Parts: sequence; C-alpha cells; structure tokens
Amino acid sequence: MPSSATDCLHCEQRPSINKLQLCVRCNAVKGIRLLYFKKRGWTPEWEQHLLRLTARAQQRLPLFPKEEHHEPRAKAASA
Ligand SMILES: [Zn+2]
Repeated sequence: MPSSATDCLHCEQRPSINKLQLCVRCNAVKGIRLLYFKKRGWTPEWEQHLLRLTARAQQRLPLFPKEEHHEPRAKAASA
C-alpha cells in the first residue's frame, strides 16, 4: 500500500490529481475542495507555529509563555 505525500489529503484512498492534493472524487465535491483550498493560504511558518503549539500542548507546557506572569486569581484563593 503506497503511503506517499501524493495521496489524497481527504480520503487517502487515491492518488491526488491537483495542487490541492485531492483525488478525482474528492476534488469533485465542492465542500471538500473549499475545505482544502483554504489551507493554501497557510504559510509554512504558520504550519510550523501550529505544530509547535500542538507539541507544547501535548507536553502540557504553557502555549504562550509571556502570559505566565499573570497568575490566575483562583490560584491565590484556593487555600
Ligand atoms: Zn480523495
């Protein structure tokens, strides 16, 4: 079973036939096409940003370290 980057992004059942990386069948569905068309606006930087956030979330790290200074009030009152 081929698992290359050229598989259809949506169903992963058939090879993609266009830049959206959709197969013939998925590309024929307007809703699916629009779904992946939006992703074309994503930059590699944005994609990396999302991946970083995902990784941090998985490690239970704060997503936005700058906000660490803001202690939640509930913490102080939890005694
Ligand atoms: Zn497909």
